[in-house]
Amino acid sequence: MIDRSLLHTGGVAKDKNRQKKQPKKPKQSSKPTGRDDDAEPRVWTSQKYGAVPLVQHPESGGWTCDPSWQPKLPRGAVRGDPSKQPWYWGTPEYYYTDIHRTCVQCGQDFVFSGEEQKFWYETLQFIPDSTAIRCQRCRRAKRTEKAIRARLANASAAVDDRDARSLLEYAAALVEFIEVTSTGSAAKAIAAARKAARLEKASPEPHYWEGRAQELAHQPDKANACYRRFLETAMAPGVAATVPRRLVADAEERLLPPEQRAERAQTRKRWENKRKKKPKRSKPL
Ligand SMILES: [Zn+2]
Repeated sequence: MIDRSLLHTGGVAKDKNRQKKQPKKPKQSSKPTGRDDDAEPRVWTSQKYGAVPLVQHPESGGWTCDPSWQPKLPRGAVRGDPSKQPWYWGTPEYYYTDIHRTCVQCGQDFVFSGEEQKFWYETLQFIPDSTAIRCQRCRRAKRTEKAIRARLANASAAVDDRDARSLLEYAAALVEFIEVTSTGSAAKAIAAARKAARLEKASPEPHYWEGRAQELAHQPDKANACYRRFLETAMAPGVAATVPRRLVADAEERLLPPEQRAERAQTRKRWENKRKKKPKRSKPL
């Protein structure tokens, strides 16, 4: 990716005011560094770009790849901007082309697109040593898991046995964690939800989260009893407005017979896939 074999003595990236210099009769040079009295333009032969014109750094006098050079773009390539590549030394990325890779996690082939590379290296300014080794789906899943672990760590640190909110957040974070990682204690989530229910007797939410935890503990009957209690308490006057609607809809769906539930899940998946397919290119990263 980066041609590190070429050393230069000038700070190229910092110098944006250099005059553009077009090589007239490029003279091949195997020694790009060092001062020479010969005024003829020099070039550096790069594996990726061929003959790259060199310019002399105004301060250090070292020969360096011309950051303003614009080689012809190959088909599908994305133009790079050397002024946004503070990390480069040697040859900058004049353009990015799609790289075909195999995901280290799921083994599927994926494309690390030119656009993504430009976004990584110029917008996010990742160092070029960081490169995509996972497909987009695995990268997204990894980020989700990281976020879920962080949520659980925060909830676990903040849990207070006298505070129903903190107990509920802990139960919810634990349920999410168990669902994603298939590890963790459903019993702890059940205990936290029950403690919250004892502290706030009129609050419906503890029943919902106990239901979710009971499902994970393979106790469908207990889970259903919890969802029913949740829906009953959620209907109480003065309470309904405070209960998140998505929890009510979710509890109602979880109480459906298994076949109907599976059908709903499938319909939802089809919708989600349809929505995902719409944009031509997925967002970088
Ligand atoms: Zn993957």
